[in-house]
Amino acid sequence: MSEPTIALVTGANKGIGYEIAAGLGALGWRVGVGARDRQRREAAVEKLRAAGTDAFAVPLDVADDASVAAAADLIADQVGGLDVLVNNAAIGGALPQTPTTVDPATVRAVVETNVIGVVRVTNAMLPLLRGSASPRIVNMSSSVGSLALHTTPGIDMGPIPVAYLASKTFLNAVTIQYGKELSDTKILINSACPGFTATDLTDFRGARTPRQGAAIAIHLATLPDDGPTGGFFDDAGPVPW
Ligand code: NAP
Repeated sequence: MSEPTIALVTGANKGIGYEIAAGLGALGWRVGVGARDRQRREAAVEKLRAAGTDAFAVPLDVADDASVAAAADLIADQVGGLDVLVNNAAIGGALPQTPTTVDPATVRAVVETNVIGVVRVTNAMLPLLRGSASPRIVNMSSSVGSLALHTTPGIDMGPIPVAYLASKTFLNAVTIQYGKELSDTKILINSACPGFTATDLTDFRGARTPRQGAAIAIHLATLPDDGPTGGFFDDAGPVPW
């Protein structure tokens, strides 16, 4: 029997991340549940296992260097490799977040988790991913980070918290640059937009279910070797930057 594909999903204890873990588990993959809170992490692992997923716990705070390094060591020592990384963990940040009212500390905290967290986790996991036959990285972004959409006449995306919005613009820029630097490797890295989804992040106002929101990340995690890299996609196809 061939070895199962191994994935790590950050922020997999709830919301879209949990459903990404469940969806990858349904493919027969081994799935690491990256989560910072022990109780929430263990509860998610138990629930995934009860549903048939080969889930394992990965204590992980993406905003903490030591935690991320320890997570990479855990996967190297106890799992032995990594094929797919889904950088899903993110925060919305404290309100208010209009440009004229936002507290700089809020901007800093949101960027620390939503952007630097992705760089921190990705770079820590890269040595493991480079050992995979078909490595994939998915960065959970959002169309609210699209400068093209914000500056297209006639498109009104509504009031969106500016620190959160800009963190996704920043993340998309980072995705593009990873795609360029890693273009001569087997690693495919892309940004994903799940659509407006009912989770804690949106106070459950989104029209989509977390399972629907997870679909694009699962698609990008399972790209064929000749699939795209350095791109930005939702269920309908490419999203303008
Ligand atoms: P969510 O339900 O609030 O889940 C966020 C997850 O990230 C939670 O598991 C949370 O863990 C985790 N997290 C936050 N900070 C972390 C840290 N420092 N270390 C580790 N984990 C951390 O949000 P969601 O809606 O599922 O969002 C998932 C992704 O989709 C995010 O990247 C989000 O920006 C993106 N997205 C969502 C929507 C939407 O409409 N929902 C739209 C566009 C993009 P705790 O339980 O410990 O807080």
